[in-house]
Amino acid sequence: MNKQVLKALNLSIEKWERIVKGDGVDRGEDDCALCNMFIKGNCRGCPVSEVIGYWGCNNTPYENWTSHQNLKHWLEDEKKVHCSECKDLATKELEFLKDLRVEYESNIK
Ligand SMILES: [Zn+2]
Repeated sequence: MNKQVLKALNLSIEKWERIVKGDGVDRGEDDCALCNMFIKGNCRGCPVSEVIGYWGCNNTPYENWTSHQNLKHWLEDEKKVHCSECKDLATKELEFLKDLRVEYESNIK
């Protein structure tokens, strides 16, 4: 697989590891290495959209994370772990990205 893409995917996984630990915040596309590479091309080539078949992280655990943040923590300045449900949802996103790495690596070879 493309080394640049794998590097971006790994950076994204590291971002979510920090969020799950409570050390990180989610600034959406502004701090996602994959978005930096692919969002200007409407997500074409992004491993998330290639495997899931939807653009913009639709139909992934990220959707549940953002809607929970928007509905439950709208008064907070930052998207991060505020409650136990946040932590569960961030963990699901992290697991999703790790599974994606395995799946993407096997598809590309
Ligand atoms: Zn929460």
